[in-house]
Amino acid sequence: MSEASDSKSSTVRELGHFIDGRRVAGTSGSFSDVFDPAQGRVSARVPVATPDEVAAAVSAAQAAFPAWSETPPLLRARLMFKFKALLETHADEVAELITRDHGKLFDDARGEVSRGLEIVEFACGIPDLLKTDFTDQTGVGIDAWNLRQPLGVAVGVTPFNFPVVVPCWMFVMATATGNTFILKPSERTPSASIRLAELFFEAGFPKGVFNVVHGSREVVDALMAHPDVKAVSAVASTPVAEYIYTESARHARRVQALGSAKNHLVVMPDANLDQTIDALINSSYGSAGERCMATSVAVAVGAIGDELVERLIPRVRSLRIGGGMEPDLDMGPLISAAHRSKVTRYIEAGVAAGARLLVDGRGHTVRGHEEGFFLGGSLFDDVTPDMSIYREEIFGPVLSVVRVPDLASAIALVNAHELGNCVSLYTSDGAAARAFSRQIQVGMVGINVPSPVPSAWHSFGGWKRSLFGDHHTHGEEAVRFYTNYKSVIQRWPDNAGRDR
Ligand code: NAD
Repeated sequence: MSEASDSKSSTVRELGHFIDGRRVAGTSGSFSDVFDPAQGRVSARVPVATPDEVAAAVSAAQAAFPAWSETPPLLRARLMFKFKALLETHADEVAELITRDHGKLFDDARGEVSRGLEIVEFACGIPDLLKTDFTDQTGVGIDAWNLRQPLGVAVGVTPFNFPVVVPCWMFVMATATGNTFILKPSERTPSASIRLAELFFEAGFPKGVFNVVHGSREVVDALMAHPDVKAVSAVASTPVAEYIYTESARHARRVQALGSAKNHLVVMPDANLDQTIDALINSSYGSAGERCMATSVAVAVGAIGDELVERLIPRVRSLRIGGGMEPDLDMGPLISAAHRSKVTRYIEAGVAAGARLLVDGRGHTVRGHEEGFFLGGSLFDDVTPDMSIYREEIFGPVLSVVRVPDLASAIALVNAHELGNCVSLYTSDGAAARAFSRQIQVGMVGINVPSPVPSAWHSFGGWKRSLFGDHHTHGEEAVRFYTNYKSVIQRWPDNAGRDR
């Protein structure tokens, strides 16, 4: 890795692409700055791939595809076991790369690597997952069965907030099913992707099976338009996800594009309030609210609202905030100065619209990190569905409380929102929980569980404008997404007329 100096005289790492089994320096001369959000200064710069570099990545992936797709799933699984062992050995190193680029707490980053490992563990079972159906004697002397065959070169476009686990949803499952892969990670958190590619190659995966190119829209456009690219998976904000979905479909690619979130946590009057408050604090303010599974709206049903808000206020005020590598904290900084300004503008808009700002996180500073991109936690009460802080994704440490009279109104409120990533219900009434989980128009549901992230062997994805496409990610949905389904009917007439 080459190093250069930035204007503030600290060292700035220069990242490269990973193409055909090796790290290559960018040749465009064009770079994006990667910040250390806790210090507010540039820590690395990442090259924007040229059209030739994009073409080289696709060509490497295309060249690797014939042999890789013919490799028996059992042998692919053995390499996946080796990758799992390497990722375990290097888990803390990879977690530190996440924290340095993103700002999230080191323990949180470790948790992210563990989630990535769960996907790898699931993919180790790929021989079984690729088994299909067989019908003996579908007609006289005729058998029928199905095959699941890989597509070819698949592409992944990933967001800044999960630089390891979201790529793992994609490249791990795509390669396990016999495809080759090109990752275009977020230009804001690119460091871990290169380390993942190196470890993957070190595990023994052939060169060209997993490649990484950096950049933003222009690189994604070039990948979507390349005739050898067969599938595109994206996780992004809804306008970008919709654009990638539409553009990929226009090029006749198979596509899944996960988008933004506005997750509700409904609190019934019979909820265990201790558990509910803990859930809201962790889910709304953990990772500074920059999780697609973060709760951003608490829906207080009936009389519970006053006590809920009274108990939330001191907890939000006492959030422990600092640099991600420091111990015993609740949250770190936001990803960038621009994003902090955007969140601040939402708080201003909430106040202007008439919501009651009970805790104001604006202007929060952290000693020793005066230039860092920090905000304190904010809490609003009396939020109504017409306000921008209710309708739009804020993606910051801001929780809005909306009050409704009963469960039916809570369900109607959640179902009317254009986003539907995840939702939770806190209650001690099983019948209410059952009705809620059946009626709610949201992809992932938690009953007395906040941020209900499905395990690797269940699939992950939202509904409505939180997901464009037909398949959720990882789990068996990923096996379906990354394979073509084929039906074979076979008959072998006994031409010799032998009597058996
Ligand atoms: P983003 O939309 O800014 O960028 C996501 C990716 O798309 C990046 O790789 C970026 O380089 C690329 N990109 C940006 N503009 C593009 C364009 N015009 N055309 C093509 N590609 C483009 O999102 P972000 O800020 O990095 O990530 C946060 C967003 O991702 C939030 O909205 C969050 O809800 C969402 N997210 C969703 C999930 C989910 O599972 N639904 C998971 C994680 C994050």
